[in-house]
Amino acid sequence: MKVAVLRETGAGERRVALVPALVSELVDRHSLTVAVEAGCGASSQYSDEEYAAAGAQIGDRASTLADATVVLRVAPPDPVDLESLPRGTVVIGFLAPFDHPAGVRALAAGGLTSFAMELVPRTTRAQRMDALSSQANLAGYKAVLLGADTLGRILPMFMTAAGTIRPGKVLVLGAGVAGLQAIATARRLGARVEAFDVRPAVKEQVESLGASFLVAEEEVAAEGEGGYAGALSEEQHQRELDLIAAHIHDADIVVTTARIPGRRAPELITPDMLASMRAGSVVIDMAASEEGGNCCASRPDETVVVEGVTVLGPTNLPSSLAHHASQMYARNIATLLLEMVDEGELSLDFDNDILGPACLTHDGVVRHGPTRERLD
Ligand code: NAD
Repeated sequence: MKVAVLRETGAGERRVALVPALVSELVDRHSLTVAVEAGCGASSQYSDEEYAAAGAQIGDRASTLADATVVLRVAPPDPVDLESLPRGTVVIGFLAPFDHPAGVRALAAGGLTSFAMELVPRTTRAQRMDALSSQANLAGYKAVLLGADTLGRILPMFMTAAGTIRPGKVLVLGAGVAGLQAIATARRLGARVEAFDVRPAVKEQVESLGASFLVAEEEVAAEGEGGYAGALSEEQHQRELDLIAAHIHDADIVVTTARIPGRRAPELITPDMLASMRAGSVVIDMAASEEGGNCCASRPDETVVVEGVTVLGPTNLPSSLAHHASQMYARNIATLLLEMVDEGELSLDFDNDILGPACLTHDGVVRHGPTRERLD
């Protein structure tokens, strides 16, 4: 059974789907053939020599894809690659089921069996395959570094002969995977940290990292399915805005990560709030997309300055940490791959509690219900 790894071609994508350490595991322990496109690891600092030493075949794009049973990707495949894949080929990667309908249609039209890393359930058994979490973790870390670098001030308390500088304040909105890592990173940099989330269950985790959990006068809470947040009522949303407004004006850095899967990101930072912030402060909107983000002013991958406040909307922070992001992603995707391999051969069981939910398309059909509904 041949597994193919291509060089990613998406704008700004520096990660690679499989790293040499995982190649040797698949080749030596699971008797798979791994073919990688020459240079696929160059932008994440993995050389062709390392891949070859790990047992991979190195070739051009066409020879890498030829006779592949499975194609591993970070981002959705290029349409031209899809055309060359025979029906039944398995494609695994971040396939953007909700954001890239043309890509989903192309996977189904080509009769490809695709598994979306976004659809891997966030269950205990699937933890090692949870690429959303591994990448969000890195992104939360990088968001704070980016904020600290953009800020023309320091975060830790300094007591020097030249005077004392009070610690800066970081506000984190949304304390899921990315938010908790942002909190931990801001604390490591010596900032005072405040955080808010609509799931009261995370209060304890926020406090255990040394941050304060903000509490509204009247309840603002919405637990949804599977441990995710639910949507707030209009009154609750207004209460949340009031709470944020009361705390944002003296924040040096605000990191926003609030989202409910499958929905538009809630707008949590209004023009009035931005106007209340000190010039020089920074907002990092991790939920920024073409559809909007958590901050009224954010634009994906652009820097917007509003009354002296810099608003950044980076959409691919893990790619800027490509070496370790690839290392973690490779562990996630290889573990998912092995879930569908039995004695070196492909063995698909859609009743499997991870493969079933993670399957996006199979045999010409979009199997994932919510994606299918959006396409209809
Ligand atoms: P997550 O689901 O673990 O966390 C999101 C958190 O937001 C949850 O704790 C949820 O309760 C909270 N939330 C929802 N609505 C809220 C509201 N109105 N107010 C406050 N909190 C609210 O998700 P994650 O993996 O941490 O990812 C967070 C966001 O970061 C997502 O939008 C994701 O797409 C994005 N992300 C961005 C990058 C990047 O490079 N920009 C990388 C990874 C993830």
